[in-house]
Amino acid sequence: MVSRVIPVDTFDLVIFGGTGDLARRKILPGLFRRFLSGQMPEGSRIIGAARSEMDSDGYREMIADAVAEFGGEESKDKKGLQAFLACLDYVAIDAKGEGGWAELAALVRHDVVQAFYFSVAPSLFGDLAERLHSNKIATSDSRIVVEKPFGRDLESARALNATLAAHFDESQIYRIDHYLGKETVQNLMAVRFGNVLFEPLWNNHYVDHIQITVAETVGVGGRGAYYDKSGAMRDMVQNHLMQLLCLIAMEPPSQFGADSVRDEKLKVIRALQPIDHHHIVRGQYDAGRDGQGYRADVENPRSFTESFIAMRCHIANWRWAGVPFYLRTGKRMKARSSEIAVVFKDLGHSIFEEDEARHRNILSIRLQPNEGMDLQVTIKEPGPGGMRLIDVPLDMTFAEALGADDHEVTDAYERLIMDVIRGNQTLFMRGDEVEAAWAWTDPLINAWEARNDVPKLYDAGSAGPEDAMMLLHRDGRRWREIKG
Ligand code: NAD
Repeated sequence: MVSRVIPVDTFDLVIFGGTGDLARRKILPGLFRRFLSGQMPEGSRIIGAARSEMDSDGYREMIADAVAEFGGEESKDKKGLQAFLACLDYVAIDAKGEGGWAELAALVRHDVVQAFYFSVAPSLFGDLAERLHSNKIATSDSRIVVEKPFGRDLESARALNATLAAHFDESQIYRIDHYLGKETVQNLMAVRFGNVLFEPLWNNHYVDHIQITVAETVGVGGRGAYYDKSGAMRDMVQNHLMQLLCLIAMEPPSQFGADSVRDEKLKVIRALQPIDHHHIVRGQYDAGRDGQGYRADVENPRSFTESFIAMRCHIANWRWAGVPFYLRTGKRMKARSSEIAVVFKDLGHSIFEEDEARHRNILSIRLQPNEGMDLQVTIKEPGPGGMRLIDVPLDMTFAEALGADDHEVTDAYERLIMDVIRGNQTLFMRGDEVEAAWAWTDPLINAWEARNDVPKLYDAGSAGPEDAMMLLHRDGRRWREIKG
C-alpha cells in the first residue's frame, strides 16, 4: 500500500561533485531507485560534473559500482541498471576555472526542468553560480540544490545566502536537510494536522514535555578534521534537531504549501528562548571496548569539541509556555536511534485504587530504526487479578502496517530530489530559517567557547554523560531509553 508513483516532468539534473561520496552513496543510488519505480521520465538526463578527468563511459562504470555497493536489493536488476546508466553523462569541470563549461553548456537543455545539485564544498557555491550564468547555462527557472553545512555561524550563513541570492531567486534555491525527507517526519505533520485526535491536546495544558533524541553508534569516521571544527551543535542541532523541533511545535499552517509551512517554522525558531548554560550538557566520547576515544579519532589531543549535546529549551508562546523541550544527540551512543516523544501529563485524578504506578500517554515518533510511531496507552492488565493497569504501545511500524518492504519506504534523498524536479520547496529550508537558527545557536556556542568549556567524558556505547541524566532528573523526569 505504497503511494502511487507519479512521474515528474522530464529533467536535466547536473550533479556538481558527481564523483564524491555523497553522490555515490546517496544521490545516484536514490535516483536509480526512482528510475526503477518509473518516476523518472524517458529523456531525462543526469550529468555528473566533477574535477576528475574521465569520459561518460568511465562515469557509468563508477556509478554502476556505487549502485552495486549502496543501492540495496534493487541493484540486482541488471537490465534496469543498464537502462539507468544510459541516462548518465559526465563532464570534467573546474568550478574555479573555465575548463569543461562549454561542454556542459552544450549538454544542458533549456526546454526541460533544469536542476543543479551543488554536492561540493560550500566555498565553491559562488564560483558555480557565477559560471552557470556567465556560460548562459542557468535560466530564471533553474533550480539549485545545496547541502549542509549551510555556514558555520550566522555571518557565514548570511554570506552564503548573499552569494546565492546574487544569482538566483529564493524560489530557485533548495537547501537540503535530509531529515525533512524522512517518511516519519512528514507523517508527523499528517498525524498532527490530518486527525482531530491530537491537535486539541498539543499544548501546555496536556503535554508535560517533549524529548527529541538523535543517537548514532558511529564515531566521527573519516570526517574527523571537519567534525572537530564543527561539533554536535553545529553538525546536528542547528539543522536536523531544530527542524524536528519546528515541525512538532509549529502552529497549523493555513495550507500545506512551501511558504505557509516555512513561515510557521520560522516563528518557532524566533520564539526559542536563550538557554542558560546550566541547561546544556556537552560531552565527548571516551575510548570504549571496540574503539578509541574522540580525541584520538580526530587526532587532536586537546580538543574541546562536543560529540554529544543535551539541552533544555523553551518556546516563548501561548501554546508552549512552561513545556520543556529536551534535545539530545551524540556519537558512539549505545544504539542508533532517533525519536521524538511527546510525553503527556498525568491524569488529574485516578479512580483506580490499585493504580499506584504513574501511567502516562506517550506518543513516540521513530525516525530510525523501524520508521513508525507508537502511542502508549493505559489498559487493564488481562486476567482475573483485579483492576490492575498496565501501559501498552499501540504500535505502527510503517513497513509492517503499510505492507511495504524496507526498500519501498523511500529514502529521504530520493523524495527530496523528486520534490526539486516538481518545484515543491515545502521540505527545504528557506534562507531566513537557516539564519534564524544560527542566530539562536551562535550565542550558545560563543559563550562556551569564551569560557573554554570542557566537555564531559562519556563511555563509548553509553547513553551519554551522567550530567545529561541529571538535566532531566533535576526536573523530576527521565530520558527515554535509547533502543536500537
Ligand atoms: P567529496 O570530497 O567526497 O567530493 C567532493 C566532490 O567535489 C568531488 O566530486 C570533486 O571532484 C568535486 N570538486 C572538488 N573541487 C572541485 C572543483 N574545483 N571543481 C569541480 N569539482 C570539484 O565530498 P562529499 O562527501 O561528496 O560532500 C559534498 C558536499 O556535501 C559537501 O559540502 C559536504 O559537506 C556535503 N555533505 C556530504 C555528506 C556525505 O554524507 N558525504 C552529507 C551531508 C552533506
